[in-house]
Amino acid sequence: MEWKKNDVFQVTITDMGSDGEGIGKIDGYTIFVKDAVIGDVVTAKIMKAKKNYAYARLEKVETPSPFRIQPKCKFARSCGGCQLQALAYEKQLQFKNRKVKNNLMRIGGFSEALLNEITEEPVGMEEPFHYRNKAQFPFGYDKEGNVITGFYAGRTHSIISNTDCALGVPENKQILEMILSFMKEENIPAYREETGTGLLRHALIRKGFFTGQIMVCLVINGEKLPAAEKLTDRLKTIEGMTSISVCINKERTNVIMGTDIRLLWGKERIEDKIGNLTFSISPLSFFQVNPVQTQRIYSQALQYASLTGNETVWDLYCGIGTISLFLAQQAKQVYGVEIIPQAIEDAVANAEKNGIKNAEFFVGRAEEVLPQKYESEGIYADVIVVDPPRKGCDEQCLATMLKMQPKRIVYVSCDSATLARDATFLCENGYELKKVRAFDNFPQSGHVETVCLLSRK
Ligand code: SAH
Repeated sequence: MEWKKNDVFQVTITDMGSDGEGIGKIDGYTIFVKDAVIGDVVTAKIMKAKKNYAYARLEKVETPSPFRIQPKCKFARSCGGCQLQALAYEKQLQFKNRKVKNNLMRIGGFSEALLNEITEEPVGMEEPFHYRNKAQFPFGYDKEGNVITGFYAGRTHSIISNTDCALGVPENKQILEMILSFMKEENIPAYREETGTGLLRHALIRKGFFTGQIMVCLVINGEKLPAAEKLTDRLKTIEGMTSISVCINKERTNVIMGTDIRLLWGKERIEDKIGNLTFSISPLSFFQVNPVQTQRIYSQALQYASLTGNETVWDLYCGIGTISLFLAQQAKQVYGVEIIPQAIEDAVANAEKNGIKNAEFFVGRAEEVLPQKYESEGIYADVIVVDPPRKGCDEQCLATMLKMQPKRIVYVSCDSATLARDATFLCENGYELKKVRAFDNFPQSGHVETVCLLSRK
């Protein structure tokens, strides 16, 4: 049978794709159905048909899966923020664990027997909602012309009006509603992407989970926020409010933040803790968004590194140095490498703030800094930790790591497909995959983090 657009059919969902979409098969033809859950029998409609597979829209759940639950948020389906809310949490975790295993098998060629032996229990969250310490809310208009804020619908820039996201902190709602009523009273226009006009673009809200300190930064398409004091007078009544600023961004771009921050009230930075370390965070700082799971990942990385206090450790892709500073407490010397100069400024300041003297940081690409240091200074490593972005490690970086011959490599990954590729390369060149563990840093989404230990044979 030839499949075509608008065909309506019934199918049982038997698998899940890498973004959490349901997968069903009819006579060997694969159909991806967003919002359908493993075990559902659904009626769906083809939106786009290819030779071997198609994308379909869920029309009706005929027989719900035993794993299907009522989403907590009424916008779960339309909003681009969550993909898995209709799936029971323990199944989400199972799915993510399997995704890591499948990638290591299919892409990496590791055997199922080995993976069964070395994979540790996945680490999920006790409370898989309200875990995000940061959110950026766009402002815009509804059909009636009222100012709204919320989240983008999946793959578009149309805003779903919602001040009460189930992943964020409860204070978001109060803060956003204060901003919306202030905008109405003072006639402050929201930014319009189509024309580049209007003023208020985004509100960045951050909360230190450990300290309770809150930061609000309003991104504006102009130099000044009119009647700013009226707004700050209200916002500062919220418990924990520590920093209120504007960020100037007059570019016509999808990049949310500009570079020019002007403080309106309070302090320039908030603080938060991960484990026993304190971090100072500006509106432009990178900081992990799920502090509970982040601490667990870092502890795992530290455990796999099994340091005694005599080791020299390199932390590649170190961001603001969070992992480096964790490691430094148990190593002789740590070196961090990161491409973004401001992140390294934060790393140096955070080392000082925590009295850590055995961590040194370099700005640059890992694949350039590491070979340079190796060729010119013959640097050494007992342990190398890497935490690259989704595209994984550059081959030049991996090749230098091999030359350095560290005893252990701890690979922290946010994309198990590139992890599988890189781990295979290391294992073809003298290393052995010893441990694998999945961490759920982003419940309700299809993402999964992995921490691996590789040892030199
Ligand atoms: N380890 C940190 C950050 C990990 S995110 C933490 O746990 O917080 C990955 C980091 O790699 C980002 O900070 C990004 O800026 C950086 N990065 C991306 N490409 C890089 C490269 N080629 N060399 C060095 N760092 C890079």
